[in-house]
Amino acid sequence: MKGVTFLPNLLPGEHLLGAFSRLLLLNNAASTDELQQSLTGHAHSLNVTAAYHKSYDSLFKLFEKQKSPEELLNQHTLMGFYRHSMKYQRRHELLISNNYLEREPFYFPGTNIFKNTRRWRWCLSCAQEDYKSFGISYWHVQHQLPSALTCHRHTNEQLNSGCNKCGFEAYDLKDCALPPNKQCPVCKFKFETTLRKLSSDACWIQNAGTSLFESDSGFLRPNFEWVMHWAVDLVSARTWKLGHGNKWSVFDRQQRLFSKWLVDNGLDEYFAEGIELENCKALDIEKTKEFPGKVPAITHLLWLRFMGVQSLRDAKRNGFVRPSTAA
Ligand SMILES: [Zn+2]
Ligand SMILES: [Zn+2]
Repeated sequence: MKGVTFLPNLLPGEHLLGAFSRLLLLNNAASTDELQQSLTGHAHSLNVTAAYHKSYDSLFKLFEKQKSPEELLNQHTLMGFYRHSMKYQRRHELLISNNYLEREPFYFPGTNIFKNTRRWRWCLSCAQEDYKSFGISYWHVQHQLPSALTCHRHTNEQLNSGCNKCGFEAYDLKDCALPPNKQCPVCKFKFETTLRKLSSDACWIQNAGTSLFESDSGFLRPNFEWVMHWAVDLVSARTWKLGHGNKWSVFDRQQRLFSKWLVDNGLDEYFAEGIELENCKALDIEKTKEFPGKVPAITHLLWLRFMGVQSLRDAKRNGFVRPSTAA
């Protein structure tokens, strides 16, 4: 590998782009962009917004002695979360292509409406513990899940997304190769842990996201593939059972109840500022029903919870379960 004298070992749960940012940092290149260009064919920013980053194919090659592409996708990228709501054909294409350096990045719907899909996030306790264990803090995939609000290891600890004092945020890992474990890298403000308790519904959404990511099923046959589709069946069946009137008025009523439920249960926290939940196409009941692949994965989870599903496993086993939270 031209210009690379040190290839880092992937750390447990580390994001693949985080490992690559460490590689760029630790090889002391005169120009980070030039080293990146020589390894991946481009110098794109290392941001968290793309579900499939343009660098992934090259990075599979770079890290092939450590893990297979399937292991890298499942364990070290957000595809471990998204695989359950993708078409088989698309997953298949990602695993079989040998067309390195050619594939374009792709984005899942909803990137612009969710707050947690735009910048890198970290947990201060994880960063400090990782520093003690590995001599370095690193970017965890699970902290980047769109469904995550607190840390999966430090249950009540809020994930950091930047500095409240100077407004620093990590968009490109070339500017912030490691998550801060003490202070803001810009203004030196000392970070402190923030503890919080999630509402039971936010907790459910967060745990469901973790279950999707941690499911040990393969990339081509993900365990909860049909659960995501069942959200659609549940929405359809329940709205008909609940409604008395024509289809459109039933949908309208459910959409209004759904928007109110999001706000009443603190789930509006998932959305970027200024998003009108009631008119948001990415949450639309008809769109979810007619084009399930065109709404965000998290929309499926929100509708499943609204419809009263107790757990993803229950939904998988029974398909239909008694609603507990829906009106
Ligand atoms: Zn943590
Ligand atoms: Zn700062």
